[in-house]
Order: sequence, then C-alpha cells, then structure tokens
Amino acid sequence: MYDRICQSVDRNAQEIIAWRRDFHRHAEIAMLEMRTASLVASRLASWGYSVSLGESVCDMTHLSYMATPEQLESHYQRALGENPATAYLEQVRNGATAVIGLLDCGEGPVVGLHCELDAVPVTESTRADYRPVREGFASIHPGMAHTCGHDANLAAMLGCAKALSEVRDHLHGKVKFIFKPADERGQGAAMLIPKGHLDDVDYLFSTHLFGRELGVPGADIMSNFPETLATGRMEAVFRGKASSPTAHPQLCKNVITAMGTAITNLQSIPRHGEGVTRVQVLHVHAGEKRGGVPEEGVMEISYAGQTMEIRRFLEDYALRIFKASAEMHGVTCDVHQTEGFPPILSDAELAERMESVANAHVPGVCVRYVPHRTLYGTDDFVYMMEKVREHGGLATDTQQISDVQGIVHTGEFDYDESVIPKTAKVFAATVYDLLKQAVKEETP
Ligand SMILES: [Zn+2]
Repeated sequence: MYDRICQSVDRNAQEIIAWRRDFHRHAEIAMLEMRTASLVASRLASWGYSVSLGESVCDMTHLSYMATPEQLESHYQRALGENPATAYLEQVRNGATAVIGLLDCGEGPVVGLHCELDAVPVTESTRADYRPVREGFASIHPGMAHTCGHDANLAAMLGCAKALSEVRDHLHGKVKFIFKPADERGQGAAMLIPKGHLDDVDYLFSTHLFGRELGVPGADIMSNFPETLATGRMEAVFRGKASSPTAHPQLCKNVITAMGTAITNLQSIPRHGEGVTRVQVLHVHAGEKRGGVPEEGVMEISYAGQTMEIRRFLEDYALRIFKASAEMHGVTCDVHQTEGFPPILSDAELAERMESVANAHVPGVCVRYVPHRTLYGTDDFVYMMEKVREHGGLATDTQQISDVQGIVHTGEFDYDESVIPKTAKVFAATVYDLLKQAVKEETP
C-alpha cells in the first residue's frame, strides 16, 4: 500500500508543482484567501472529501484584524475573475476563509493535517533573472507574495489528500485537513479552535518549508520543529506635551526623550541564567520632519525566552522600563501585548513514528527526528497542538527542508520545489500507517 501511495504522488508530481505555482501567481494575504480557499475546497470535494468552509467553520467574533468591507468586495471581484471554483467563492467572500476537508473512513482515530492559506503582504520582485519571474509564476498582485513558502505547504497537503483518497478503502478512521487563514496575522488558530475542529483529533501534524540551515545534513524533512522560544511583542504608546522648543523648552514633555531612555535600557536587560533571551526594538515612530515636539510616540518591541518563565521575566522588566522611562521625563506610557506564543514542542512519539514509517516505506526521501536543535520563533499552531493534547492526543510540527534562495518574508524568496512531492508522500504514508489497522487504536 505504501508503494501505491508513493506511485500516486509520483504520477501527480507535475500537477502538484503546478498547483504550487498557481497559488504563488495568485497570492492572497490574510483574510482575503478567497481564491485559494475555494480552489482547495473544490479539489478536496472532487476527491471525495466532505468539505466545509466559511462562517460555519470559522469563528469571526474575536478577530484582532479584519479586512475592510471595501477590501473584501474588491478582492472578491478579483478572485471571481481568476477563479474557476466559483461555487465555493461565495461562501468565503466575507473573509471567513478556513477550509475543513474530511475523509470519513469509518471507526478509528482522527488524523488532523494543518496548513496555512495566506501569503505575505510584500511585493514580489520583478527582477528578470529571479526564477519565479523567469518561469512565469511570480505574483501578479503587488503587495501579496508567497515568500513564506505557504504555497509549498499547500501543494504538499493537497498532494497528500489526493493520494489518501485513492487508498481510502484501506483506511480506518478519519482524515481531517484543516486549512488555516491569516497565519501571518497570528489569528488563524483563534478562528478555528472555538469551532471544535481539534476536539476529536488524535494525531495532529503541520508542515512548513525552511532552508537547509534549520535541517540536518541530508534530510528532506524534519519530523519535528526545532526547539522554539516563547515569543511576545509589545506596543508602547507614549504621550507627552508639546510647547515651543526654543521659547518654553521647560514646558515640553518630550516623548522622544522618554523613548530614547527606554530603548537604551531595553538593551540592558540582563541575560537569564536558566535559558536564552532575545529583546529587539522593532519599530519607533514619533514626530514629523520639520515639525515641533511631538505629543505622541509609538514603539514596538519583540522579546523571546526559552521558557514561559523567562519570557515573563523579560515582560516584567520591559514594563518597568517603559513605566520608569516615561515617569522620568514626565510623559505617560500605555503598554499592551500585541502577540505572544508559548514554545512549540513536538511529541517525540509521533515525530519518531513519521521518521520510521518514511524511512522504511518511502524510498528516496530522508526524514529525520532530531530534538533540541536551533532555537527559533514560533506561531499560533502551538495553540492547536495544545488543544489536541488536552484530550490526550499527540502533535508534531514538521519542516520541509529545501535549498532556499533569498530571504523569507521579503520580495525575493525561492526554493527547490522537489521537496513538495516528497512531503506529500511522507505525510500520506504516515497517515496510512496510523489508520491502517481496522481496530481503533488505544487513545494515545
Ligand atoms: Zn510561514
């Protein structure tokens, strides 16, 4: 059966890569993934998955970011012009772009496979010798580009979905594909979790494309994520008082002075003896060129610690610095956390299972499980993993390792597509392995 799965993906490899290039060319950013979602839905449906999308699968009540009605409408019109799958487009035109595809193969465990839908809000390069331009699949939409590799993740998951549909008579359980919107806004998981999609999942997987520096030599896929940090971001808004800088400088309460004090001291937060720390000032804005003393200034920082305790240490320290810097210069400061994720930790049992299945049954692909590697950032998939673990399920975030050119999240990012069918095979073989037994496996 593993051979059949691998042959299916090999047969479809060109098509899988064509899907990737099509998603890439028609990139869509957070909350506007209408064409992408409707194409994903129509493909899954054509392979026998029951598909749900739109508000029935997406909680839209607690969004930190939403596209404007004008953006939604004009994007809908754009998608309509570019999208053959119009039956599904209507259901996602309000920005509820999540897609759930379920292959119900009777009694047995539920395997969840997660994948992001959105591109990055940057304009892709038009440089003639940039490969996506040269080969005609660069994004045709300024301000939207798949330079985080979610197009690879999408194509791999679809390739896996198609291969599994062909062996469905040999599966015992359910395969649930969870296509998540707004990853780049960090709010996709918050849209999906309240709808209960993770409540019955026994095994949860995700995949993301990365460059070789995050893998180990020779590996095509890492079946776990690198050890990650607990990350956070804070925005601090300083408010002061303007006055004539020459006639009455004593009356000015200058936010820039307070912000400067804060910046210097943020960089002076001590290291932590029990793990690594990161602190960076990301964004500072106050005043206008040739203007007077500004009354308001905004600063954003990012910070990360090896554990939640270390992150809290950084948070408390940063809050004290903001408060004291403001007070020192007679201004006020309101601080709020804009983002915060716990570290991603993959379950060894599941990551090792993927490694052993792939290495025994998927020729030509090297899968490695290596715990405790480079420390790295994190994302909101971690909440989906935690949800699955609440009822005893297992979860792992995996990486497709590719030769990457350019820098992620910029206007130029390209990678070797041959990893996409490899990933599809490994996922399909692993899901088959988890669902091949007719008896329900004991709850992990
Ligand atoms: Zn990404």
